[in-house]
Amino acid sequence: MNSTHLSKRLQTVSDHVEPGSRLADIGSDHAYLPIHLAQTHVIDFGVVGEVATGPLANATSEITKDHLLGVLHPRLADGLAAIEPGDDINAITIAGMGGNLITHILEAGKERLVGKEKLILQPNVGEPVVRSWLMANQYRILAEQILKEDGHIYEIITAKKTAKPVKYSELALKFGPFLLKEKSPVFVEKWREEMGLLARVIKNMEQATIPDTAKIAAIQSEINLINEVIKVES
Ligand code: SAM
Repeated sequence: MNSTHLSKRLQTVSDHVEPGSRLADIGSDHAYLPIHLAQTHVIDFGVVGEVATGPLANATSEITKDHLLGVLHPRLADGLAAIEPGDDINAITIAGMGGNLITHILEAGKERLVGKEKLILQPNVGEPVVRSWLMANQYRILAEQILKEDGHIYEIITAKKTAKPVKYSELALKFGPFLLKEKSPVFVEKWREEMGLLARVIKNMEQATIPDTAKIAAIQSEINLINEVIKVES
């Protein structure tokens, strides 16, 4: 992968950035995503935020090599602290991290969010935590994607602040309101795998001298729930 040929995962994230956006890519690492967007003239302003000096040096070197230092601004900062008041950011991408870290970055940097930003989030794991944060902070989920690449399944969630509180059911928070409606083959595959994992956990727990029956029952009801959700396609 490079900025010309993004991975399917990053390409899907980048497809959500609208032309003319003023972007902040937080946790940018190599900066392939903002470089790609600048090279294809989707954006002409981007903040490239990185908390670690090594990745920031990589990002700066890639941006310099592509003569984009006037467009992309690499900054060493923790999370949304990379955003400065005059940046007028209206799109934020946070990709390739766990849902807990993404949520922490959003929560810790709340005061930098003015409410007009489209959030484009790609948690590697822990998607329900991200959806719960969005609901608690009055963000409406605009779209969701699920895709498989190199044996991994990824979800991409985009959201925007709304005037009224948003309510998602427990089921929608766990599975994703759009993904749940669509029930694509990759979605079914993801949750089939999860059921298999949980079944193995139960098998192991049953080997214990005194099996924790309450915990086993809780895991079994989670399996039943998943089975109920995906059974149409089974
Ligand atoms: N966003 C790129 C992608 O999706 O391919 C890179 C993902 S990389 C696995 C995660 C990057 O996030 C690392 O370079 C790490 O240093 C950075 N990171 C982790 N916590 C961060 C934080 N609080 N603020 C900014 N960057 C962070």
